[in-house]
Amino acid sequence: MAATVIDGKAFAARVRGQVATHVAALKNDHGITPGLAVVLVGEDPASQVYVRSKGKMTLEVGMKSVEHKLDVDTAEADLLALIQKLNNDPEIHGILVQLPLPDHLDEDLVINSIDPAKDVDGFHISNVGLLGTGQDSMVPCTPLGCLMMLRDHHGSLSGMDAVVIGRSNIVGKPMAQLLLGDSCTVTIAHSRTKDLPDVVRRADIVVAAVGRAQMVPGGWIKPGATVIDVGINRIDRPEGGTRLVGDVDYDSCAKVAGAITPVPGGVGPMTIACLLANTVTACCRANGLPAPE
Ligand code: NDP
Repeated sequence: MAATVIDGKAFAARVRGQVATHVAALKNDHGITPGLAVVLVGEDPASQVYVRSKGKMTLEVGMKSVEHKLDVDTAEADLLALIQKLNNDPEIHGILVQLPLPDHLDEDLVINSIDPAKDVDGFHISNVGLLGTGQDSMVPCTPLGCLMMLRDHHGSLSGMDAVVIGRSNIVGKPMAQLLLGDSCTVTIAHSRTKDLPDVVRRADIVVAAVGRAQMVPGGWIKPGATVIDVGINRIDRPEGGTRLVGDVDYDSCAKVAGAITPVPGGVGPMTIACLLANTVTACCRANGLPAPE
C-alpha cells in the first residue's frame, strides 16, 4: 500500500493561522506586536531565498519584521554590535542570524552573543543545555517541525525505535533530544556509522538530515515506518533545469513506508511556521504572559 503523504505545507498553514490569532490577541489585549529580526551576512543565494520568505511570512501573521543585510566582509565586531543593539531593543523579541556565516566569522561566538531569551533558532548554548536536560527552552525550528508532524501522525511516540541520520547541531542532535523526550529509543547515525542500511531498517521512525540527494533508498526502510525527510538538495533534471529533492529516494521509500514527508512541501514549510511560533513564545515570556501551547 502506498504511504500516507504527510502534508507539511497544509500543517504549516494551520500553525501560521494559530500564530496569527495569538499575534492579534497580543495586539488587541496588550498593545504588543511581536518582532522578529533576521540578520543575513553576505549574498548566499539559498540564504537570501530563506530570509525573504521568512520576512514575508512574519508580516503575513501580523508581526513586525526587521531585516539586516550586511556585506560579506562585515567585521565580527560590527556584527556583534548589531546583535547587542537587537538584544537591547524592546520591540524585537526574536533574533535569527542566518547560517552559514562567512568563514572569517566565529559562528559559535556570534550565536552565543544573542540573548538566549530572543534566540528563536534555539542554537544558543543555554538553550541547547536546557533542551538536553528536558527543561523549557527555545527549541530549534526544523526538529520542532518534524516532531510536530510525528506527533500529529502517531499521537504518542512512546517506545518507538527512531533513527536520526545526521548529527549536526542544528538538526540531528536536537532532533534526537526531542525524540528522546517523547520516549523513543533513539539511534543517531552519521558518516562513520557501520551497516547504516541495517541500522535504518530497525526504525519505526527515520529522520534523514544528511545533505546528500536521495541517499536513502526504499530498501533500507522497514515496511510501515514513518520517514521524515529534512534534506533540501537541488539536482539537475535530465531534460534541463533543476529540481529540489530530499535526502531520501521518495519514490522507492513511499512504496514501503507507512507515511512520508515530501520535498518540497514537508519539513521546509514547518521550519518557518515554528520560527514564527517561537517568536510569539519569546514575546509572551518577555512580557510575563502565558506562552501558547
Ligand atoms: P550537516 O552537513 O551539518 O550534517 C550532515 C550530517 O549527515 C552529518 O552529521 C554527517 O555525518 C552526516 N552524513 C553525511 N554523509 C553521510 C553518509 N554518507 N552516511 C551517513 N551520514 C552522513 O547538515 P545539516 O544537518 O545542516 O542539514 C542536513 C540536511 O537538511 C541538508 O540537506 C540541509 O539542506 C537540510 N536542512 C533543511 C532544513 C529545512 O528547513 N527543511 C533546515 C536545515 C537543514 P558526520 O557528522 O560524520 O560528518
